[in-house]
Amino acid sequence: MANDFIYSQPVKIIFGEGRIRGLGGILKEAGISRCMLLCDRFLRGRAEELAAEIPEICGVFSDIEENPQIKGVNEAAFLTRSYGAEAVAAMGGGSTMDTAKFAAAIACESDNALPYFRGEKRFPAKRLTVIAIPTTAGTGSEVTQVSVTSCGKEKKTINDPVFMPGMALIDPELTYSVPKRTTMNTGLDALAHALEGYWSRGHQPISDLMAKEAVKLVLGNLENAWRNGEDKEARRNMSMAALLGGLSFAMPKTAGCHACSYPLSEDYHLPHGEACAFTLSAFVRINSDERLGALAKEAGLSGTEELAERIDELKEMAGLRTRLSDLPDPDIDKLSRDCAAHPLMRNNPVEMNVESLREMFETLK
Ligand code: ZN
Repeated sequence: MANDFIYSQPVKIIFGEGRIRGLGGILKEAGISRCMLLCDRFLRGRAEELAAEIPEICGVFSDIEENPQIKGVNEAAFLTRSYGAEAVAAMGGGSTMDTAKFAAAIACESDNALPYFRGEKRFPAKRLTVIAIPTTAGTGSEVTQVSVTSCGKEKKTINDPVFMPGMALIDPELTYSVPKRTTMNTGLDALAHALEGYWSRGHQPISDLMAKEAVKLVLGNLENAWRNGEDKEARRNMSMAALLGGLSFAMPKTAGCHACSYPLSEDYHLPHGEACAFTLSAFVRINSDERLGALAKEAGLSGTEELAERIDELKEMAGLRTRLSDLPDPDIDKLSRDCAAHPLMRNNPVEMNVESLREMFETLK
């Protein structure tokens, strides 16, 4: 039957304010006595505090960089092996979780990620557990088997079951200090995950339900979280939206906006969320149909046009780049070709080609 589906979600999810303080107990309960903690330099102080309090944390690696390179994965895997860790906790945004997933997948055998990145070697059968601790509300990486890493200029999205975290520890308090612009970027990434999971050709009933709830939560809370980072209710609801956004695309995969986000990030250095948001309202208009209209109405809007307008308003209020003229030397032909060639474009419900993408980018001039 056309409506048959397979759904699975293997990640244990622990959600709540202050839950990070229970990390030691969580590790003990899972039988983990040596855990490596990964973060970026901004979280170094917090990570060191945790390491001082929790004896199960055997080491801290705090040099994770934005847009992680294979070099960083190798360093993380090397230290994880050196410390004899049985698990890797990733406290941070998408970059930290992506690095941890890759390092944990190879650390039982190696600290050289390159042959795996190039597809020359299969991932080892044994891997370390990842405990994903998101500090932004957006990527949903805590519940997906996706890791985005780069080798020099070559950026790859690898979707493999070896990257699925074992646990997601989601503490909304960790997002209170996220700067305004990142709050908007990552919040719109969560909205893109939910909308794309919903309209993806691979969408299915359970994912649809989570997508609808995530869209409602983002539309009801993102502006408040952006205006006042200390708004606890808005922050909690955005952490929930990010989680549900991740769950809503984990099985169906994303579509047109994410396909376009990769060339926009690579060629024009837009952060991931801003790159997804760049074409999000355009794709709402392109993919507008009865089903999407029903979702917009459930979220309290009059229809898909108001949904697209609301996305544009959010981008503009935060000063995100919304037009090609905001980018240095935009090349519509190359952009259209690269976006059309991205495999995720095939999940878009409306078939897109170089010509229709060029038309779309013309509207964003
Ligand atoms: Zn994304």
